[in-house]
Amino acid sequence: MDVTEEIFNGMKKKFNASMETILCRRKKVTNVMITKEEYFQIIERLKLPKVDRKYQNYDVINLDDGSFRLIVNKNDKPNAPTKYYVHMDETFQIIYETHMKNGHCGRNRMEKEINTVYRNITREMIRNFLFLCYICEQKRPAPKIVEKEKPESRGFETRFPRCQVNVMDMVDKHDGPYKYILVYEDYQTKFVQLRPLKTCRIEEIVGILLKIFTTFGAPAIIHSDNGRDFASKIIQELGNQWKDVKMVHGQPQFSSLNQDVLELLEMWMEKNTIGKWSKCLRYVQLMKNKCHHKALNCTSYEAMFGVKCIIGLNDCNLPKSKLDEIKSEEDLHVFLKDDEVLRVKQEVKDDNTEEESFDCFEDYLNSLKQEAESEGDDENSVVFVPPAKIMRLS
Ligand SMILES: [Zn+2]
Repeated sequence: MDVTEEIFNGMKKKFNASMETILCRRKKVTNVMITKEEYFQIIERLKLPKVDRKYQNYDVINLDDGSFRLIVNKNDKPNAPTKYYVHMDETFQIIYETHMKNGHCGRNRMEKEINTVYRNITREMIRNFLFLCYICEQKRPAPKIVEKEKPESRGFETRFPRCQVNVMDMVDKHDGPYKYILVYEDYQTKFVQLRPLKTCRIEEIVGILLKIFTTFGAPAIIHSDNGRDFASKIIQELGNQWKDVKMVHGQPQFSSLNQDVLELLEMWMEKNTIGKWSKCLRYVQLMKNKCHHKALNCTSYEAMFGVKCIIGLNDCNLPKSKLDEIKSEEDLHVFLKDDEVLRVKQEVKDDNTEEESFDCFEDYLNSLKQEAESEGDDENSVVFVPPAKIMRLS
């Protein structure tokens, strides 16, 4: 068992213990916690031709592998995005996957990502998970006293945009000809660009910066963790190669940028078993730019381009199990149609709100429990349908 798997199992154990605690505490008040058994019992009830109005906010979707999932009833809005209910046993896996996929993002981003697809994963569950992540634990900065921003500095910042240009030494872990990493960050948007370097010669660095500046625009002030002298040399060489641009160097402003990049890079390489870091930088860059920034209240990508970063069909709110079989735009239209048809129509509909339904839902779960108790603890009496793999740990 390697360290990662060990840590993973440790996190899962602790998380599930915290879920049990929430379950014990919450059971009498509301019920967003569904055990695996209850989950599939509800699905069986919903498949009956006449469905009790208790379940009107729940619906069942039949996935291509023959399994059934509990989803939020779309009622009269068939084009509304599908939102899944999850059971307790799979909650950890889903939160874990989302956290890894989004570069160890914080709570706000996690909530945003999860709430788009899942109905009953709460803020408390996400928070409990985040406490357990050992990478985030290491990244958590020590509390420090923040100097109050001078009133005039805000105008200065927007008028004279800044960037950070760092060169990270990777000589000890060189990847073929590549021995350094150029880390570029735009201050205003926090948009990061990463490039492998063969040398740390100013000409090579400036060659890359010119490509960046002529695509994204050039800042007025350059900072570097490598020192003011380094920034000054870059500006001088830039002036030689591009006569029209004038920049100045600022005080070195040390941040955790390099460290963040290294951690993400290590994580990415470990997860994807890619030995060449020069090939991984582009994915790490994307992961970083897709992270939600508290100060920006959006991702760096959104701050830079003004639109959400979409990575193909993966970000189009489709069940993972469908992705393989969708090959053309026509398939997408067929999927949307099927999605609508497959919804198990519920016969009784009224105006109950979702809040009310949760109360009813709890009543229903309690009644299931009473039934189970009166039948004794015979596990064979539970109707069990294997769960669909919505998310899988690779
Ligand atoms: Zn983390």
